[in-house]
Amino acid sequence: MHKDIATPIRTKEILNKYGFSFKKSLGQNFLIDPNILRNIVSHANLTSESGAIEVGPGIGALTEHLARAAKKVVSFEIDQRLLPVLEDTLSPYDNIKIVHSDVLKADVAKVIEVEMPGIKDIMVVANLPYYVTTPILMKLLNDRLPIRGFVVMMQKEVADRITAKPGTKEYGSLSIAIQYYCTAEVAMIVPKTVFMPQPNVDSAVIRLIRHDQPPVEVINEDFLFEVTRASFAQRRKTILNNLQSGMPDGKKNKEAIVAALEKVGVDPSRRGETLTIEEFGRLADALYPIFY
Ligand code: SAM
Repeated sequence: MHKDIATPIRTKEILNKYGFSFKKSLGQNFLIDPNILRNIVSHANLTSESGAIEVGPGIGALTEHLARAAKKVVSFEIDQRLLPVLEDTLSPYDNIKIVHSDVLKADVAKVIEVEMPGIKDIMVVANLPYYVTTPILMKLLNDRLPIRGFVVMMQKEVADRITAKPGTKEYGSLSIAIQYYCTAEVAMIVPKTVFMPQPNVDSAVIRLIRHDQPPVEVINEDFLFEVTRASFAQRRKTILNNLQSGMPDGKKNKEAIVAALEKVGVDPSRRGETLTIEEFGRLADALYPIFY
């Protein structure tokens, strides 16, 4: 076993050797605690036959733990300055591919096809750059990748929204956008002290496991998300008021919206935050003929 990258001493040594300075704009908060890294990886349930996709290897702290647990690791890094560092720190491992790219612009499906042929079990495991957590998750979900799920670190507040249940103040269109595709749970809360530099916010690791079937079949998924976004636009308003102001020509269609709500058994005076995904699905299908 090689010396861990993620000890405070070794991390400082590496940063000094390369004169590396953190870029806040790229969400660079590196992990310096091997126990946290082992915990993150254990939540992914990888085997020696698994593949791991990482976003943002930094200096390779998590990457090396993934390389020890999985058959192959592919890691996307946007910051060119880190490439020579990674070549050095990850040199003991022969099962890591670093892709120099903004993950939001990468053809991840193609990279999986080329780099992970024959690998059936693939997880995304990452300490995400917090400034783009949601766009990264949504991109990777919308890309319909052949993955089992995600174990990812993010700002705790975003983790709470993603995993929220109906009837809570955190529950909103982001909870639905993610829980439509995956079961979602907070796996661990992470203190600021395990990062260098320490972030200003608390962190959490969440685990998302893709559903075999979505929790509700709908005519049009994009329309479901349009309806949920409109329903949460103003949290104090009723679902009827939000749909009237948030859907195109909603005001003119008040009666049809009321009829659709009644058809699916949703009282027009309820608030969006009380509806389950299943109720939103049925509602979206009932509203669909009005707007399309
Ligand atoms: N995995 C390392 C660790 O845990 O110590 C670093 C995590 S740090 C929170 C986020 C990393 O993502 C940084 O290395 C940063 O340069 C990289 N990054 C930021 N935006 C990115 C993007 N759009 N695509 C790929 N990597 C990105």
